[in-house]
Amino acid sequence: MPHSPLPTRESLREVRYDIRGELSRRARELEGQGRQLVRLNIGNPGAFGFRAPDHLQAALTGHVHASDPYTHQQGLPLAREAVAAVHRERGTPNACAERVFIGNGVSELIDISLRALLNPGEEVLLPSPDYPLWSAATILNQGRPVYYRCAPENGFLPDPDEIERLVTPRTRALVVINPNNPTGANYPPELLHRLVDIAARHGLLLMADEIYDGILYDGAEFTPLAPLAGDVPCLSFGGLSKVWRACGWRVGWAVLSGDPLRVGDLHHAMDLLGAMRLCANVPGQFAVPAALQGPETIRELTAPGGRLHASRQAVIAGCAASEHLSLVAPQGALYAFPEVMGQAAEGFDDQAFALELLETEDVLVVPGSGFNVPGSRHFRITLLPEAGLVREVFTRIDRVLSHRAEA
Ligand code: PLP
Repeated sequence: MPHSPLPTRESLREVRYDIRGELSRRARELEGQGRQLVRLNIGNPGAFGFRAPDHLQAALTGHVHASDPYTHQQGLPLAREAVAAVHRERGTPNACAERVFIGNGVSELIDISLRALLNPGEEVLLPSPDYPLWSAATILNQGRPVYYRCAPENGFLPDPDEIERLVTPRTRALVVINPNNPTGANYPPELLHRLVDIAARHGLLLMADEIYDGILYDGAEFTPLAPLAGDVPCLSFGGLSKVWRACGWRVGWAVLSGDPLRVGDLHHAMDLLGAMRLCANVPGQFAVPAALQGPETIRELTAPGGRLHASRQAVIAGCAASEHLSLVAPQGALYAFPEVMGQAAEGFDDQAFALELLETEDVLVVPGSGFNVPGSRHFRITLLPEAGLVREVFTRIDRVLSHRAEA
Protein backbone atom coordinates (compact mmCIF):
# COMPACT_ATOMS: atom_id res chain seq x y z
CA MET A 1 0.00 0.00 0.00
CA PRO A 2 1.40 3.44 -0.93
CA HIS A 3 2.27 5.65 2.01
CA SER A 4 1.07 9.22 1.81
CA PRO A 5 2.86 11.86 3.90
CA LEU A 6 1.49 12.57 7.36
CA PRO A 7 -0.80 15.58 7.39
CA THR A 8 0.09 18.30 9.90
CA ARG A 9 -1.99 20.96 11.51
CA GLU A 10 -3.60 23.10 8.82
CA SER A 11 -3.56 26.34 10.80
CA LEU A 12 0.25 26.19 10.82
CA ARG A 13 0.07 27.37 7.21
CA GLU A 14 -1.18 30.72 8.45
CA VAL A 15 1.63 31.00 10.98
CA ARG A 16 4.94 32.72 10.34
CA TYR A 17 8.00 33.20 12.49
CA ASP A 18 10.46 34.86 10.10
CA ILE A 19 12.92 35.72 12.88
CA ARG A 20 14.12 32.13 12.54
CA GLY A 21 12.59 31.37 9.12
CA GLU A 22 13.79 30.67 5.56
CA LEU A 23 16.50 33.33 5.66
CA SER A 24 17.98 31.73 8.79
CA ARG A 25 18.09 28.39 7.04
CA ARG A 26 19.91 29.98 4.10
CA ALA A 27 22.27 31.67 6.59
CA ARG A 28 23.17 28.28 8.08
CA GLU A 29 23.91 26.95 4.60
CA LEU A 30 26.20 29.88 3.89
CA GLU A 31 27.96 29.40 7.21
CA GLY A 32 28.38 25.75 6.31
CA GLN A 33 30.26 26.98 3.23
CA GLY A 34 32.59 28.98 5.49
CA ARG A 35 30.98 32.44 5.19
CA GLN A 36 31.23 34.72 8.26
CA LEU A 37 27.79 36.28 8.77
CA VAL A 38 26.64 39.17 10.90
CA ARG A 39 23.44 37.83 12.41
CA LEU A 40 21.20 40.72 13.38
CA ASN A 41 17.96 38.73 13.34
CA ILE A 42 17.60 37.67 16.97
CA GLY A 43 17.61 39.70 20.18
CA ASN A 44 19.88 37.20 21.87
CA PRO A 45 22.30 39.11 24.15
CA GLY A 46 24.44 36.04 24.91
CA ALA A 47 25.27 35.68 21.21
CA PHE A 48 26.90 39.13 21.27
CA GLY A 49 29.08 38.56 24.32
CA PHE A 50 26.66 39.81 26.98
CA ARG A 51 26.41 37.66 30.11
CA ALA A 52 23.80 37.36 32.82
CA PRO A 53 25.11 39.38 35.81
CA ASP A 54 27.38 37.48 38.22
CA HIS A 55 24.91 37.56 41.10
CA LEU A 56 22.32 35.80 38.95
CA GLN A 57 24.83 33.17 37.86
CA ALA A 58 25.78 32.60 41.50
CA ALA A 59 22.10 32.20 42.47
CA LEU A 60 21.55 29.66 39.69
CA THR A 61 24.66 27.55 40.26
CA GLY A 62 24.34 27.83 44.05
CA HIS A 63 20.92 26.16 43.94
CA VAL A 64 21.56 23.36 41.49
CA HIS A 65 21.44 20.91 44.43
CA ALA A 66 17.86 22.06 45.19
CA SER A 67 16.65 22.00 41.58
CA ASP A 68 15.80 18.32 41.17
CA PRO A 69 12.14 18.17 42.14
CA TYR A 70 9.20 19.51 40.15
CA THR A 71 7.89 22.73 41.63
CA HIS A 72 4.29 23.91 41.91
CA GLN A 73 2.89 24.50 38.40
CA GLN A 74 2.89 28.27 38.94
CA GLY A 75 6.54 28.24 40.01
CA LEU A 76 8.80 28.34 43.06
CA PRO A 77 7.20 30.37 45.87
CA LEU A 78 10.39 32.41 46.37
CA ALA A 79 10.46 33.40 42.69
CA ARG A 80 6.76 34.25 42.64
CA GLU A 81 7.08 36.28 45.83
CA ALA A 82 9.96 38.29 44.32
CA VAL A 83 7.87 39.09 41.21
CA ALA A 84 4.85 39.98 43.36
CA ALA A 85 6.99 42.34 45.49
CA VAL A 86 8.14 44.27 42.40
CA HIS A 87 4.54 44.53 41.21
CA ARG A 88 3.33 45.71 44.63
CA GLU A 89 5.97 48.42 44.50
CA ARG A 90 4.81 49.44 41.00
CA GLY A 91 1.25 49.67 42.21
CA THR A 92 -0.20 46.59 40.47
CA PRO A 93 -3.46 46.04 42.37
CA ASN A 94 -3.61 42.96 44.63
CA ALA A 95 -0.20 41.69 43.50
CA CYS A 96 0.59 38.53 45.46
CA ALA A 97 2.51 35.30 44.83
CA GLU A 98 -0.75 33.38 44.15
CA ARG A 99 -1.36 35.58 41.09
CA VAL A 100 2.13 35.05 39.61
CA PHE A 101 2.85 32.32 37.03
CA ILE A 102 6.43 31.36 36.20
CA GLY A 103 6.96 29.84 32.77
CA ASN A 104 9.65 28.61 30.41
CA GLY A 105 10.14 32.14 29.15
CA VAL A 106 7.40 34.62 28.38
CA SER A 107 6.91 32.59 25.19
CA GLU A 108 5.32 29.70 27.02
CA LEU A 109 3.11 31.99 29.09
CA ILE A 110 1.83 33.80 26.00
CA ASP A 111 0.73 30.44 24.63
CA ILE A 112 -0.75 29.21 27.91
CA SER A 113 -2.70 32.41 28.52
CA LEU A 114 -4.18 32.55 25.01
CA ARG A 115 -5.03 28.85 25.21
CA ALA A 116 -6.76 29.50 28.52
CA LEU A 117 -8.68 32.47 27.16
CA LEU A 118 -9.84 31.78 23.61
CA ASN A 119 -12.75 29.92 22.08
CA PRO A 120 -12.68 29.25 18.33
CA GLY A 121 -13.09 32.44 16.25
CA GLU A 122 -12.60 34.87 19.13
CA GLU A 123 -10.54 37.92 18.35
CA VAL A 124 -7.36 39.35 19.81
CA LEU A 125 -6.34 42.93 19.09
CA LEU A 126 -2.65 42.90 18.17
CA PRO A 127 -0.26 45.64 17.10
CA SER A 128 1.03 45.71 13.53
CA PRO A 129 3.98 45.40 13.51
CA ASP A 130 3.78 42.75 16.21
CA TYR A 131 6.16 40.35 17.90
CA PRO A 132 5.05 37.43 15.70
CA LEU A 133 4.66 34.89 18.48
CA TRP A 134 1.53 36.78 19.51
CA SER A 135 -0.09 36.22 16.11
CA ALA A 136 1.12 32.63 15.92
CA ALA A 137 -0.16 31.72 19.38
CA THR A 138 -3.50 33.41 18.69
CA ILE A 139 -3.98 31.44 15.46
CA LEU A 140 -2.82 28.11 16.91
CA ASN A 141 -5.22 28.55 19.80
CA GLN A 142 -8.06 28.99 17.30
CA GLY A 143 -8.35 32.74 17.75
CA ARG A 144 -8.22 35.44 15.10
CA PRO A 145 -5.64 38.25 15.13
CA VAL A 146 -7.14 41.67 14.41
CA TYR A 147 -4.39 44.23 13.83
CA TYR A 148 -4.26 47.82 14.94
CA ARG A 149 -1.69 49.91 13.12
CA CYS A 150 1.32 51.46 14.81
CA ALA A 151 2.47 53.82 12.08
CA PRO A 152 5.94 55.36 11.78
CA GLU A 153 4.37 58.78 11.13
CA ASN A 154 2.87 58.51 14.63
CA GLY A 155 6.15 57.40 16.23
CA PHE A 156 4.89 53.79 15.97
CA LEU A 157 2.27 54.56 18.63
CA PRO A 158 -1.24 53.16 18.15
CA ASP A 159 -4.34 55.27 17.63
CA PRO A 160 -6.87 54.39 20.38
CA ASP A 161 -9.80 55.49 18.19
CA GLU A 162 -8.76 52.98 15.55
CA ILE A 163 -8.45 50.26 18.19
CA GLU A 164 -11.93 50.99 19.46
CA ARG A 165 -13.38 50.78 15.94
CA LEU A 166 -11.90 47.28 15.62
CA VAL A 167 -13.68 45.93 18.71
CA THR A 168 -16.48 43.46 17.94
CA PRO A 169 -18.63 41.24 20.18
CA ARG A 170 -16.01 38.51 19.60
CA THR A 171 -13.03 40.56 20.85
CA ARG A 172 -11.51 39.09 24.01
CA ALA A 173 -8.14 40.74 24.53
CA LEU A 174 -6.04 43.79 23.74
CA VAL A 175 -2.30 43.08 23.49
CA VAL A 176 0.14 45.90 24.26
CA ILE A 177 3.88 45.40 23.66
CA ASN A 178 5.69 48.12 25.57
CA PRO A 179 8.56 48.95 25.17
CA ASN A 180 7.93 47.61 21.72
CA ASN A 181 9.59 44.92 19.69
CA PRO A 182 10.22 45.55 16.76
CA THR A 183 9.78 49.35 16.72
CA GLY A 184 11.37 50.47 20.01
CA ALA A 185 8.32 52.67 20.80
CA ASN A 186 7.74 53.51 24.46
CA TYR A 187 4.08 54.20 25.25
CA PRO A 188 3.23 57.37 27.24
CA PRO A 189 0.86 57.19 30.24
CA GLU A 190 -1.96 59.13 28.49
CA LEU A 191 -2.05 56.56 25.70
CA LEU A 192 -2.03 53.65 28.14
CA HIS A 193 -4.94 55.25 30.04
CA ARG A 194 -6.92 55.35 26.80
CA LEU A 195 -6.20 51.65 26.18
CA VAL A 196 -7.34 50.76 29.69
CA ASP A 197 -10.51 52.72 29.12
CA ILE A 198 -11.26 50.75 25.93
CA ALA A 199 -10.64 47.44 27.70
CA ALA A 200 -12.86 48.52 30.60
CA ARG A 201 -15.79 49.52 28.40
CA HIS A 202 -15.66 46.40 26.24
CA GLY A 203 -14.85 43.80 28.89
CA LEU A 204 -11.45 42.90 27.37
CA LEU A 205 -8.41 41.30 28.98
CA LEU A 206 -5.34 43.54 28.77
CA MET A 207 -2.19 41.59 27.90
CA ALA A 208 0.90 43.70 28.58
CA ASP A 209 4.09 42.24 27.14
CA GLU A 210 6.64 44.21 29.17
CA ILE A 211 9.68 41.97 28.73
CA TYR A 212 11.80 45.05 27.81
CA ASP A 213 10.61 47.11 30.79
CA GLY A 214 14.13 48.08 31.96
CA ILE A 215 15.67 48.76 28.54
CA LEU A 216 15.16 52.46 27.78
CA TYR A 217 17.26 55.17 26.16
CA ASP A 218 17.63 58.95 26.25
CA GLY A 219 15.81 59.41 29.55
CA ALA A 220 12.64 57.61 28.36
CA GLU A 221 10.57 56.24 31.25
CA PHE A 222 8.61 53.03 31.26
CA THR A 223 4.99 53.11 32.47
CA PRO A 224 3.63 49.72 33.56
CA LEU A 225 0.07 49.04 32.45
CA ALA A 226 -1.34 47.06 35.38
CA PRO A 227 -1.30 49.92 37.94
CA LEU A 228 -3.35 52.03 35.49
CA ALA A 229 -5.70 49.13 34.79
CA GLY A 230 -6.97 48.92 38.38
CA ASP A 231 -9.95 46.55 38.38
CA VAL A 232 -9.66 45.76 34.66
CA PRO A 233 -8.26 42.23 34.16
CA CYS A 234 -4.64 42.46 33.10
CA LEU A 235 -1.81 40.00 32.51
CA SER A 236 1.65 41.59 32.73
CA PHE A 237 4.55 39.63 31.25
CA GLY A 238 8.23 39.96 32.18
CA GLY A 239 11.29 37.76 32.42
CA LEU A 240 15.02 37.23 32.69
CA SER A 241 15.77 36.97 28.96
CA LYS A 242 16.42 40.58 28.03
CA VAL A 243 16.85 42.94 30.98
CA TRP A 244 19.01 40.28 32.68
CA ARG A 245 20.53 38.83 29.45
CA ALA A 246 19.63 35.24 30.36
CA CYS A 247 17.59 34.12 27.31
CA GLY A 248 18.79 30.53 27.53
CA TRP A 249 17.63 30.03 31.10
CA ARG A 250 14.02 30.20 29.88
CA VAL A 251 12.49 32.08 32.79
CA GLY A 252 9.51 34.38 32.36
CA TRP A 253 6.54 35.41 34.46
CA ALA A 254 2.99 36.64 34.12
CA VAL A 255 1.13 38.56 36.81
CA LEU A 256 -2.66 38.48 36.79
CA SER A 257 -4.34 41.58 38.20
CA GLY A 258 -7.82 43.08 38.27
CA ASP A 259 -11.05 42.52 40.12
CA PRO A 260 -11.33 38.74 40.81
CA LEU A 261 -15.01 38.86 39.85
CA ARG A 262 -14.10 40.15 36.39
CA VAL A 263 -11.05 37.87 36.07
CA GLY A 264 -13.38 34.92 36.61
CA ASP A 265 -12.01 31.52 35.66
CA LEU A 266 -8.84 32.67 33.88
CA HIS A 267 -6.63 32.03 36.90
CA HIS A 268 -7.94 28.50 37.28
CA ALA A 269 -7.63 27.83 33.51
CA MET A 270 -3.99 28.98 33.43
CA ASP A 271 -3.22 26.98 36.56
CA LEU A 272 -4.72 23.86 34.96
CA LEU A 273 -2.72 24.29 31.74
CA GLY A 274 0.39 24.94 33.83
CA ALA A 275 -0.24 21.78 35.82
CA MET A 276 -0.44 19.69 32.64
CA ARG A 277 3.13 20.69 31.76
CA LEU A 278 4.09 20.08 35.42
CA CYS A 279 6.40 23.04 36.00
CA ALA A 280 8.87 25.43 34.37
CA ASN A 281 12.63 24.85 34.33
CA VAL A 282 13.65 25.02 37.97
CA PRO A 283 17.34 26.15 38.15
CA GLY A 284 16.72 29.54 36.55
CA GLN A 285 13.83 30.25 38.90
CA PHE A 286 16.32 30.52 41.76
CA ALA A 287 17.85 33.53 40.00
CA VAL A 288 14.58 35.50 40.02
CA PRO A 289 14.96 36.94 43.57
CA ALA A 290 18.61 37.76 42.82
CA ALA A 291 17.53 39.61 39.66
CA LEU A 292 14.66 41.52 41.20
CA GLN A 293 16.28 42.36 44.52
CA GLY A 294 19.87 42.84 43.33
CA PRO A 295 21.59 45.77 41.59
CA GLU A 296 20.09 46.99 38.31
CA THR A 297 22.92 46.37 35.86
CA ILE A 298 21.04 47.08 32.63
CA ARG A 299 21.28 50.86 33.07
CA GLU A 300 25.08 50.65 32.82
CA LEU A 301 24.53 49.41 29.27
CA THR A 302 21.76 51.79 28.17
CA ALA A 303 23.05 55.04 29.74
CA PRO A 304 25.58 57.29 27.94
CA GLY A 305 28.92 55.47 27.91
CA GLY A 306 27.18 52.07 27.90
CA ARG A 307 27.49 49.56 25.09
CA LEU A 308 23.83 49.50 24.09
CA HIS A 309 23.72 53.28 24.15
CA ALA A 310 26.70 53.43 21.79
CA SER A 311 25.19 50.86 19.42
CA ARG A 312 21.88 52.68 19.32
CA GLN A 313 23.70 55.94 18.51
CA ALA A 314 25.55 54.14 15.72
CA VAL A 315 22.26 52.84 14.28
CA ILE A 316 20.71 56.32 14.39
CA ALA A 317 23.81 57.79 12.72
CA GLY A 318 23.90 55.00 10.10
CA CYS A 319 20.29 55.70 9.10
CA ALA A 320 20.80 59.47 9.10
CA ALA A 321 23.84 59.13 6.84
CA SER A 322 21.99 57.03 4.25
CA GLU A 323 19.79 58.78 1.73
CA HIS A 324 17.82 55.53 1.43
CA LEU A 325 16.76 55.09 5.06
CA SER A 326 14.58 56.77 7.60
CA LEU A 327 14.27 55.77 11.24
CA VAL A 328 12.03 56.49 14.18
CA ALA A 329 14.72 56.34 16.88
CA PRO A 330 13.98 53.49 19.27
CA GLN A 331 13.17 54.67 22.80
CA GLY A 332 13.48 51.23 24.32
CA ALA A 333 14.04 47.48 23.76
CA LEU A 334 16.79 45.93 21.64
CA TYR A 335 15.83 46.73 18.04
CA ALA A 336 15.63 49.35 15.33
CA PHE A 337 13.05 49.22 12.53
CA PRO A 338 14.37 51.39 9.67
CA GLU A 339 12.33 52.14 6.57
CA VAL A 340 13.66 52.13 3.02
CA MET A 341 12.91 55.41 1.23
CA GLY A 342 13.12 57.12 -2.14
CA GLN A 343 14.41 55.45 -5.30
CA ALA A 344 15.54 52.35 -3.42
CA ALA A 345 11.95 51.82 -2.24
CA GLU A 346 10.45 51.69 -5.75
CA GLY A 347 8.87 48.27 -6.27
CA PHE A 348 10.45 47.24 -2.97
CA ASP A 349 10.13 43.63 -1.86
CA ASP A 350 11.41 43.35 1.71
CA GLN A 351 12.06 39.58 1.48
CA ALA A 352 14.09 39.98 -1.72
CA PHE A 353 16.04 42.84 -0.14
CA ALA A 354 16.88 40.81 2.97
CA LEU A 355 17.95 37.86 0.82
CA GLU A 356 20.19 40.08 -1.31
CA LEU A 357 21.75 41.60 1.81
CA LEU A 358 22.48 38.12 3.10
CA GLU A 359 23.81 36.71 -0.18
CA THR A 360 25.95 39.69 -1.18
CA GLU A 361 26.92 41.34 2.13
CA ASP A 362 26.70 38.54 4.71
CA VAL A 363 24.22 40.46 6.88
CA LEU A 364 21.10 38.76 8.23
CA VAL A 365 18.11 40.99 9.10
CA VAL A 366 14.38 40.29 9.44
CA PRO A 367 12.09 41.76 6.75
CA GLY A 368 9.31 43.96 8.10
CA SER A 369 6.59 41.69 6.71
CA GLY A 370 7.80 39.09 9.26
CA PHE A 371 6.11 41.29 11.87
CA ASN A 372 2.72 41.11 10.22
CA VAL A 373 2.95 44.38 8.32
CA PRO A 374 1.63 43.91 4.78
CA GLY A 375 3.69 45.57 2.04
CA SER A 376 6.38 46.56 4.51
CA ARG A 377 9.37 48.64 3.46
CA HIS A 378 11.00 48.08 6.85
CA PHE A 379 13.51 45.66 8.25
CA ARG A 380 14.48 44.89 11.83
CA ILE A 381 17.98 44.74 13.24
CA THR A 382 19.04 44.18 16.81
CA LEU A 383 21.03 46.83 18.69
CA LEU A 384 23.21 44.18 20.33
CA PRO A 385 26.43 44.28 18.21
CA GLU A 386 29.24 46.64 19.18
CA ALA A 387 29.03 50.14 17.65
CA GLY A 388 31.98 49.46 15.31
CA LEU A 389 30.23 46.48 13.77
CA VAL A 390 26.99 48.47 13.49
CA ARG A 391 28.85 51.09 11.44
CA GLU A 392 30.26 48.40 9.15
CA VAL A 393 26.78 46.88 8.74
CA PHE A 394 25.30 50.21 7.65
CA THR A 395 28.01 50.61 5.03
CA ARG A 396 26.97 47.24 3.62
CA ILE A 397 23.22 48.00 3.83
CA ASP A 398 23.76 51.31 2.06
CA ARG A 399 25.74 49.59 -0.67
CA VAL A 400 22.84 47.24 -1.45
CA LEU A 401 20.29 50.06 -1.35
CA SER A 402 22.38 52.37 -3.55
CA HIS A 403 22.72 49.59 -6.06
CA ARG A 404 18.95 49.10 -6.01
CA ALA A 405 18.29 52.83 -6.36
CA GLU A 406 20.48 52.93 -9.48
CA ALA A 407 18.91 49.85 -11.07
N1 PLP B 1 7.83 39.06 24.01
C1 PLP B 1 8.62 39.83 23.23
C2 PLP B 1 8.11 41.17 22.82
C3 PLP B 1 9.87 39.37 22.81
O1 PLP B 1 10.63 40.15 22.04
C4 PLP B 1 10.29 38.08 23.21
C5 PLP B 1 11.58 37.53 22.74
O2 PLP B 1 12.28 38.09 21.93
C6 PLP B 1 9.45 37.32 24.02
C7 PLP B 1 8.22 37.85 24.40
C8 PLP B 1 9.82 35.94 24.48
O3 PLP B 1 10.81 35.97 25.44
P1 PLP B 1 11.23 34.73 26.33
O4 PLP B 1 10.43 33.57 25.93
O5 PLP B 1 12.70 34.53 26.10
O6 PLP B 1 10.94 35.15 27.75
